[in-house]
Amino acid sequence: MKKIYLKQDKEKPVLRRHPWIFSGAIQKKDPDIAPGEIVSVCSSNGRHLGYGYYNRATPIAVRLLSFGSKKVDEEYLRRLIGEAIDKRTGNSLLRHSDSCRLIFSEGDNLPGLIVDAYGRHLVLQSATRGIERMKGAIASILIDVLRPESIYERSEHEGRALEGMKPVNGQMYGTTPAEIVMHEKDMSFGVDVREGQKTGFYLDQRDNRDLVRRLSREADVLNLFCYTGGFSVAAARGGARTTTSVDASGDAIEKAGKNMELNRLQTPAEFIKADVFDYLRSEDVTQNLIIIDPPALAKKKSSVQNACRGYKDLHLQIASKCGKNTLVLTCSCSRFISMELFQMVIFEACADAGRSASIIGKYHQPCDHPTSIFCPETEYLKTILLRLD
Ligand code: SAH
Repeated sequence: MKKIYLKQDKEKPVLRRHPWIFSGAIQKKDPDIAPGEIVSVCSSNGRHLGYGYYNRATPIAVRLLSFGSKKVDEEYLRRLIGEAIDKRTGNSLLRHSDSCRLIFSEGDNLPGLIVDAYGRHLVLQSATRGIERMKGAIASILIDVLRPESIYERSEHEGRALEGMKPVNGQMYGTTPAEIVMHEKDMSFGVDVREGQKTGFYLDQRDNRDLVRRLSREADVLNLFCYTGGFSVAAARGGARTTTSVDASGDAIEKAGKNMELNRLQTPAEFIKADVFDYLRSEDVTQNLIIIDPPALAKKKSSVQNACRGYKDLHLQIASKCGKNTLVLTCSCSRFISMELFQMVIFEACADAGRSASIIGKYHQPCDHPTSIFCPETEYLKTILLRLD
């Protein structure tokens, strides 16, 4: 097996199980390592520290899968996949849903791999060269262990271009229906695994959907960036008086309407295809429960400043326009924006609007999106529940 050697003072993070090795930490390496090939990571004096896959095209040159002597072979992958599945099946927080994220990248010691389960259908996303080389073996293990009806691949992550890979969208195993109906408590959602965003549905908003449901009794709810209406259905189920759902995608808006019908909800529901930034500028905000869940406005570190302007603009509009005692559930799914920074931006918006507000809840991603304690950088979803007085 080929080896890479770290610079003298760069082994500590590996000893502390951080899975990323940046190219600048590498002192030397064996020649001709193929993109995604598994290598032995060694300290500067040649002591083996762990195994990971290498790609010289990316700033993170190695992602470690094994810390110590366990080689990354079929048996080891089987063990990691088994551990990820055990984490979910033993977790009563997931009891009320037939769908969850089964494998979450670094959070499950499988950097670059995501597997979502919608009922008996799996969706796999490979983001790196290393996972790309293993994805056939991974699919075989998933078939063997879970006996799924199908596996669909949605490897369209933006980072693939940097890795030197094209996007892949296609069937890996069995036949995935054009629409899967998944269940969460007594709610149903149609999921378009082939063409929908990400793997088809925002499983990571499960806990927040539940929160919205509990907050919605008699509320008029404005769901901004609604996608297929997850929060709108939860609000209607929770007894909302009205729901208004806004998204720029006509396809998403249409599916949001279908999801309301699927749940036989009679709540007056309006669906508006619009850019949320324009919508907030031109419309009054009369609702008293507002959900703000934009896409990751900062997809890379260098766009954090711009993203903050976007987040501030959204909150400034809301803080200036909504009535007394309005609740705002607001989310940032940008991994480069910390909870502290997100809160700071909201503070600035409220200060500029001259609006008194209090934080009445703070939340993170749900249990099927675990954050490795050794790799806090992978925590991405931050939610603040705000009360505008
Ligand atoms: N809240 C949703 C997920 C939101 S994903 C849920 O729980 O399922 C982000 C959504 O924002 C996408 O549906 C995308 O179409 C939409 N979007 C992106 N930019 C937008 C904009 N400027 N105005 C309105 N919608 C936008």
